[in-house]
Formats: sequence, C-alpha cells, structure tokens
Amino acid sequence: MSNNINWEDLVLPHILKLQAYSSARDEFSGDAKVFLDANENPFDEEQQNWNRYPDPLQKKIKTRLSDLKGIPAENIFLGNGSDEAIDLLFRIFCKSEESNIVTCPPTYGMYKVSSSIHNVENIEVQLTEDFQLDVKAIIDKATQQSKMLFICSPNNPTGNSLRKDDIQYLLENFNGIVVIDEAYIDFSAQDSWIHALSEYPNLVVLQTLSKAWGLASARLGMAFANQDLIKILNKVKPPYNISGPSQKLVAESLSKKQIFDNQVKAIIAERDDLFLKLQDIAGVKKVYPTDANFILVEINDAKEIYQNLLKNGIVVRDRSNVSLCNDCLRITVGTKEENEAIIRGLEGITSGDKLNY
Ligand SMILES: *Cc1c(COP(=O)(O)O)cnc(C)c1O
Repeated sequence: MSNNINWEDLVLPHILKLQAYSSARDEFSGDAKVFLDANENPFDEEQQNWNRYPDPLQKKIKTRLSDLKGIPAENIFLGNGSDEAIDLLFRIFCKSEESNIVTCPPTYGMYKVSSSIHNVENIEVQLTEDFQLDVKAIIDKATQQSKMLFICSPNNPTGNSLRKDDIQYLLENFNGIVVIDEAYIDFSAQDSWIHALSEYPNLVVLQTLSKAWGLASARLGMAFANQDLIKILNKVKPPYNISGPSQKLVAESLSKKQIFDNQVKAIIAERDDLFLKLQDIAGVKKVYPTDANFILVEINDAKEIYQNLLKNGIVVRDRSNVSLCNDCLRITVGTKEENEAIIRGLEGITSGDKLNY
C-alpha cells in the first residue's frame, strides 16, 4: 500500500456518513459552577465526581501516554480493553457475509471470535514451523475482500516476535489494514511499530495496560493509528467507553513509571530463570524462546500434567489442542514463589511422587 490511503475505499459507506452521538460532555466541557446539562444526580457523596459522566475522550490519559510513548495524542484511541478496539475495527471495515480477514494461527483467539460475531470470514494462514509469518501464503490467500490482517508480535501463545522484514513486506503489500497486536511489547527487546505510523497509513498498533502495566482489571486497551482512523474510531465507539473509576486509576498508575519499570525488569529476570529451570524437567521436549511474560513448553502427556497441576492448585493454560502446539502448556511468569511452585509441581508430577503443599 502506498503512503496515501483512500479511506473511502476501505471504510464502510454508512460509517463514513455516520453522525456521531453528541453527548452533554462533548457539547460542553469547560469550567462552570452549575452543571445541569446531563441529568446527573447532583450529590457527590464520595467527593470523587462519581456522579458525573467521565471525559469521553480521556484527555488526561492520552496526554500521559503521548509523553510515555512519544506519539501525538491525536494518534491514540482508548478502548474498553484491546477487545473493544478489535470489535470497532470490524464495525468500521468489514461487511457481514462479504468481507474477510486474515489471521495467522496459532495466535490470540479474539480475532477469530470477533470475525464470527460480525459474520466475517476468517482466512487462516498458519505460521511456519518456526512460528514465523508465511508471507507468500498470506499474499496468495488474501482476496479483494480481505479488509484486515491480524499479526500478533510477540505472538500469543508461542511467545516469539515476528520478523521485522516480513511485517514490513506485508505493510507494503497487503491491500488493507494491518493490525499489529503488541500486547506483550514491554517484555520484548524489539522496537514497537508505533514509530512507523507516519510511514504506513494502513497500520494499526494495539497495546494494552492488561499485561506489563498490571491493570487487567481497569480494562484499558490502546490503538495507535493514522489520525483519520482515530477520528473514525472515536465516532463509532460508545460515548463513555472508559469509566470514570478506570480513568482515575489509569491516570494515577501511568504516573508511576518507576514501579512499572521495576516490575517489568523483575518479570523478565524471573522469565529467564524459569526458562532454564523448565529445561531440566523430565519429559520436557522443548522450551520455546520467548519475548513475552509467558513460556510455551512442549512436554510429554501435556493434558495429564495439566490435570495433575490443577489437583495441586496450580493452573496453567493447556494449549495442546492448538495447531502447531501439540503437547504444549503455556505458563505465565509469576512471582519468584509462584515460579518455584510450578517447578516443584512439575518435578513432583514427572518423578511420580505424590505432591502435597
Ligand atoms: C492479553 C492480550 C490482549 C489484551 O486484551 P485486553 O482486552 O486489552 O485485556 C490483547 N492481545 C493479546 C494477544 C493478548 O494476549
């Protein structure tokens, strides 16, 4: 795709024409003494403004994110988790029973679920044996109706990053929107694609506060994209999609960068330790290298081991039914104590001892 994008060709016509809902907070957001415009309850019991509708465009958070990421606030969209951004992209670009998307399994399950919800075909092009993009097959299998390509890097559940050259080729040659899901980018040494937004108008980068930022409960996903697309996303989203309590919590957390840095560093150190220890477990066939905060492990009788871990109160993710992940478990990196527990658990199970904790 060239540096110019014709949004009229890609965005569904009724979305282009859409007149966004104009909320009370959109029409007046300045300073006033008396707010009688939004039918709110006037009593502010906890002195937290919980009785007031929140900022529909989350300006405080975007200003903070803009500083942290080095990206203009106009290129940032915030959603109720990345899942909301994914859903909105389908609403904007995909016509039910006509458009399709391309995904590259094994990967995050939400792209496929969202395609089913919107009744949009999901063309699957498997990753190669070494979990990289099959660039040629992606271009071959894409059709005129392929509106979006979903790429997850570092990829869930495999943990590896996808090659930069391959992604660049797809950005230049896939004839639609390329969504790069960087939910795990903060654990990776690779650069984020957000810095390439001005080169590729068809690029959307998804990130989230649910992983490295430790705010899964706040439900805050970010989409970084061309300003034209951000405007369309803002038009289509529910007016108050990020709640006031979430905005407050997120604004506070984003100002504690030092805590974030320390936690990410600690998780990476634990990950590297766990990576080594897993290799010594009997029955482990492969510990896959990872740029994320989880490790994919191929182990004999994965299903049975999963059940045995459960009996000992340890839950991991059984990925053994997923393509290319036969006999694989996905283990999230926890605290030092939690990682010791999983190693002890696996040692006990694979050596046949009865465990008790
Ligand atoms: C966990 C995860 C997300 C996060 O989704 P949220 O809705 O923001 O919590 C997004 N993409 C991938 C690949 C993930 O693994």
